[in-house]
Amino acid sequence: MAPAHHLEPQAVLRFAPSPNGYLHLGHALSALENERLAAVLGGRLLLRIEDIDRARCPPHLEAAMIEDLAWLGIPFEPPHRRQSEHLADHRAMLARLQAMGLVYPSFESRSDLKALAEARARETGRPWPNDPDGAPLYAGSGRAMPPEEVAARLAAGEPHALRLDMAAALARLDAPLTWTEVDAAGQPLRVVPAHPARWGDVVLARKDLGTSYHLAVVTDDALQGVTHVVRGMDLFEATAVHRLLQELLGLPAPLYRHHDLLLGPDGRKLSKSDQAEGFRALREAGVTAAELRRQLGF
Ligand code: GLU
Repeated sequence: MAPAHHLEPQAVLRFAPSPNGYLHLGHALSALENERLAAVLGGRLLLRIEDIDRARCPPHLEAAMIEDLAWLGIPFEPPHRRQSEHLADHRAMLARLQAMGLVYPSFESRSDLKALAEARARETGRPWPNDPDGAPLYAGSGRAMPPEEVAARLAAGEPHALRLDMAAALARLDAPLTWTEVDAAGQPLRVVPAHPARWGDVVLARKDLGTSYHLAVVTDDALQGVTHVVRGMDLFEATAVHRLLQELLGLPAPLYRHHDLLLGPDGRKLSKSDQAEGFRALREAGVTAAELRRQLGF
């Protein structure tokens, strides 16, 4: 009899930039990290355009981004998933969380939220805590709003965000929440304890969009069968929220690799507005893709 082979399912990786600016070297690094791990694992490499915020992601920036990645020579498997075309998938995931009683509307504006956090700080005599991105934790009262008031405001069509009831969500877990971080060869490095409570009652659906980064990324990673999420350290803390949503929704947990960020000359993380660090400028200055890859250590 032929020996039984355990066929490892094929690895699936994705690079998932938001085209709200031109690509910078930090994106190039992340794309190359994805390419390298996909090659090591013999996996598939997908490109996902994270454009739920349509107003900030005009078509010319998406086109420029795809062209810059093609110039760099990264072999993304077509077709590219455009996140804004899958809002119904995000809504379906959200509906499952709503059916579990874990979602509530919050009607505050951004300036209301800032004022509420300041008022709480004055009341308690201590600074109101921030989430890992530096925004004040939700200090509103949406979760405690009487159901009749919620119903009346919804019926009146008042704009609102939808938030996760973090305490109720955590109470549903029956085991400590963790994720596995892998190295550049895809080998397990360590198991990281996840602390989603640091984010408070996170927004799952923005007022203006009906979805959010966290909801969209978890939904699309699952629907695309992503097995390895490779992205920058700036998203390390967000992974706690993603793992929580995956557990609540019964979705598989990918492995994660959060790579170091490239820093600008001022020692800060590169941002898309750092045009000087843009691909385009380098391309126009005659740098070749091979030189750029070498410069980034690939
Ligand atoms: N779209 C996100 C960004 O541009 C990255 C999403 C992810 O890799 O999970 O920062």
